Amino acid sequence: MRKKYAAGNWKMNKTFEEGQILLSEVVNMVKDELTHPNVQVVLGVPFPYLSTFSKLVDTPKVALAAQNCYPKASGAYTGEVSVPMLKSVGVKYVIIGHSERREYFAESDAFIAEKVDAILAEGLTPIFCCGETLSQREAGIHFDFVKGQLTNSLFHLSEEAIQQVVIAYEPIWAIGTGVTASSDQAQEMHKVLRDHLASKYGAAVAEEISILYGGSVNAGNAEELFSQPDVDGGLVGGASLKSRDFTDISKSFP
Ligand code: PEP
Repeated sequence: MRKKYAAGNWKMNKTFEEGQILLSEVVNMVKDELTHPNVQVVLGVPFPYLSTFSKLVDTPKVALAAQNCYPKASGAYTGEVSVPMLKSVGVKYVIIGHSERREYFAESDAFIAEKVDAILAEGLTPIFCCGETLSQREAGIHFDFVKGQLTNSLFHLSEEAIQQVVIAYEPIWAIGTGVTASSDQAQEMHKVLRDHLASKYGAAVAEEISILYGGSVNAGNAEELFSQPDVDGGLVGGASLKSRDFTDISKSFP
C-alpha cells in the first residue's frame, strides 16, 4: 500500500518563537488524534529552525523537511545548504522544484535533477514538485508539460531510486490563490503522471510512488481530494500555518 502524506510547507513564515509554538501544537495534536497507521506528517520549516525542531519532534508520525537544498556536498558555495548538512541535523525530506523556486530563482529541470540525486545519495526523500501554469492548462498542453518535468528531472533514476521519490503535483494557478483544482482535475493529472511513470518503469513500480496534490488544500476540501484513487495526500502551504487546520487535513484520509 502506498504511503500517504500530509506535508506542510511553511515557506518563509513564522519567527523562531512562533514556529516553536506551531510545531508543538501540531506534534501534540498529531500524537493525540492521528490514528491512520499509513499517514506520514511532514513539516517543511525554514532552515534555521531544523536543528532545534528535530530535537523537539518526539514521534515518528511527524518528520521534518527542508524547503530546498544545494546539490553539492560541501565547498565554496556561500549561503547554500547541502544535503549532508540537512541529514546531520535529522532532516528526512527535502522539498525541491517548488514553482516559487522555479520562478523566482530560475531553477531548471536539470538543476532539480541534480538535487534529486544529491538527496537520494544521502538516503533522504525528495518531495519533487511539478505543475503547470494557467495559460498552459488553457492551451491544453498541461499534461505534456508536467510529464516533461518528470521526464527531465526524474527519468534518469533507476527503478529502485524512483520509488524513493515523492511527487507533488501543484498546479501553479492553485497555489496560494484559494482556487483549488477540483478532485476530478487532480485525479486526472495524477493518473496521467502515474501512467507516465508506468510507461518508463512498469505498472508495479508506478503503483508504489506516492503522488501528492498541492494548491489551496484546506480542512474543507482535503477529504474529497484525498479520496481520489491516485491522490496520496497533500502538500499544504497556507493551511499548514494553522495547527488545527493542518491536523484536520492530516486526518482527512479515507
Ligand atoms: C505550496 O506552496 O506548496 C502550496 C500548495 O501552497 P497553498 O496550499 O497555500 O496553495
